[in-house]
Amino acid sequence: MRLPSLLAASLLALPLLTQSLPAAAGDTFMPTVQRVAEGVHALIGPTGARTHDNHALNANFGVIDTAAGTILIDSGASRTGAALLEAQAEALTGKPVRWVINTGAQDHRWLGNGYFADKGVEVIALARTVETQQAVAGDQLAALTTVLGDRLAGTTPTHASRRLAGEHGVLELGGRRIELHYFADAHFPGDIVVWLPDEGIAFAGDHVYVDRLLGIRPQSNPETWLAAFEALKALQPAVIVPGHGPVTDLATAEADTGTYLRYLVDKVKGLAEDLAGVDTAVAELADAPQFARLKNYDELHRLNLSRAYLAFEAAQ
Ligand SMILES: [Zn+2]
Repeated sequence: MRLPSLLAASLLALPLLTQSLPAAAGDTFMPTVQRVAEGVHALIGPTGARTHDNHALNANFGVIDTAAGTILIDSGASRTGAALLEAQAEALTGKPVRWVINTGAQDHRWLGNGYFADKGVEVIALARTVETQQAVAGDQLAALTTVLGDRLAGTTPTHASRRLAGEHGVLELGGRRIELHYFADAHFPGDIVVWLPDEGIAFAGDHVYVDRLLGIRPQSNPETWLAAFEALKALQPAVIVPGHGPVTDLATAEADTGTYLRYLVDKVKGLAEDLAGVDTAVAELADAPQFARLKNYDELHRLNLSRAYLAFEAAQ
């Protein structure tokens, strides 16, 4: 039996069409919405690894409703991820995204910037954060190509159109006061906290990990990260939206992030100063049962030890 020519033509076109569609398994992925205060929401991503299904949105984002439009905190790791965050933000506020603020230089904080910039959205960051983004963009895109494949299409590293010099910035949009605070180089150099002083809410970015073990990256400095964490505590936030994990308070942030950073500084720094060697340091501290309750402990703790050791050694 011969197929009618129109049907045959549409069948021929099918492989091309399928290729351009996202994989069915990931079509329904959305970060979980947590209400923080009136008009302030957190979009909570999974605490596991980046995957194709989760669009590498394994982190948290913020949505602030203002009389003049929506502010999105961090833009996701890709163009498609950015569109997904935008849809979620606009569904919550009923207003278009006016501003995007970047809290850091890890992929999920900023690689979606291009999507918003193309729509005329103002992207805001400290100049020092942009400097780190520029330094790490190539490596991040290479790593994401492996994870996201087709879903990285159209993602172009794009930096803030409005770059603030110095360590702090005070902004106002639609009756909301928003402060940007750099305290010290943390998970990445140039990481900031977005602080809503009127509400006592801190969007802590990658300064704070809850429920899961934090990750020391080659760019991380555990000692100055701890100093930045102490400065965040001094703000006495009523609510913390961490970079990873559910919305939390100071006590939990201290237990899951502060205590571990202090442990790295107390234990690993001394071994580096004594030139014990990275293998000895890792072997000596590999078992830290007090942190085993945190997710990703098995995957990350030993790697964190070796990277912390190398950071302390390099700082000598
Ligand atoms: Zn992160």
